[in-house]
Amino acid sequence: MPEACFDSRASVGYLTGVHPEAAWESVRMKREAVAMSVESVTLEVPQVKTIRLRWPEGYDPQFQTGQFITCFWPDEPDYKRAYSLSSCALDRGFYEFTVRRDGKMGTRLVDWIKPHQQLMVLPPAGKFLPVFEPGKHLLCLAGGSGVAPFRGFVREATRRQLDTRITLLFSVRRPDEIIFEREFRELAAQNPRFELHVTCTRLQPDEPWPGRRGRIDAAWVREHIRDLPNTVFYACGPNPLVEFIEHLVLNELHVPKTQLRTEKWG
Ligand SMILES: Cc1cc2nc3c(=O)[nH]c(=O)nc-3n(C[C@H](O)[C@H](O)[C@H](O)COP(=O)(O)OP(=O)(O)OC[C@H]3O[C@@H](n4cnc5c(N)ncnc54)[C@H](O)[C@@H]3O)c2cc1C
Repeated sequence: MPEACFDSRASVGYLTGVHPEAAWESVRMKREAVAMSVESVTLEVPQVKTIRLRWPEGYDPQFQTGQFITCFWPDEPDYKRAYSLSSCALDRGFYEFTVRRDGKMGTRLVDWIKPHQQLMVLPPAGKFLPVFEPGKHLLCLAGGSGVAPFRGFVREATRRQLDTRITLLFSVRRPDEIIFEREFRELAAQNPRFELHVTCTRLQPDEPWPGRRGRIDAAWVREHIRDLPNTVFYACGPNPLVEFIEHLVLNELHVPKTQLRTEKWG
């Protein structure tokens, strides 16, 4: 188990004369926890907040879009939980992650975290990485807060003006639960190779909504496949949703496993 460092400056050599960059590299290699200050907390939709953690001075980690960080509170070092980065690898100086108020850690974060508090953070890890190759189509399937890493995918592809096509099929209960809606619409306006499609699962028939209704199903996913051999399917979020999509992609669409990436949150 990595050792927690409560004084991040002391832990990286400021007090020992080691060059800070070399010391940070050693922190990274050892996967030690680093104390980070909460810079901002943003309510995205009811029950979901984005937390921005400022990197300490001199900290400059290498990581990839789509990875997750592991966090714990300084007063409870044995209770660690993973959170997908909702920022991307081009965002430097901070991490952002987006949490649903659920379970012990999710509830403590959403209800209690405030700017200037400190969280302990283990470096990014994980293999839920966008395949940014020319000609590839990333078909991203998300429900609720499972959309978090896909904001990173789209941010990076848009800023780098990549040729990779990204389609996000996003399932929410109601229209006021579309996390990152404004940013996704802005990214879609800048990036002709990104499309956002939303489906609402809990609307009454008489409630107005111009878009699709009902759960993600095979027919809807099929509608968005352009070139099956070059399509990579991504699903992220709570296990039941990811397993449903896994079944749909592998058993109903008969796509090989090599074209499917999943991130199960438990
Ligand atoms: C790789 C990875 C990335 C993740 N990324 C994110 C992310 O970006 N955003 C995010 O919000 N979450 C994410 N998670 C989930 C996150 O790590 C936490 O698991 C989540 O915030 C819930 O906190 P907890 O584990 O302390 O909940 P726990 O208290 O352990 O509860 C876990 C689940 O059990 C349920 N539960 C608890 N007690 C009971 C009970 N008595 N009866 C019935 N049900 C109960 C809770 O509602 C919850 O759904 C990620 C998980 C992984 C593995």
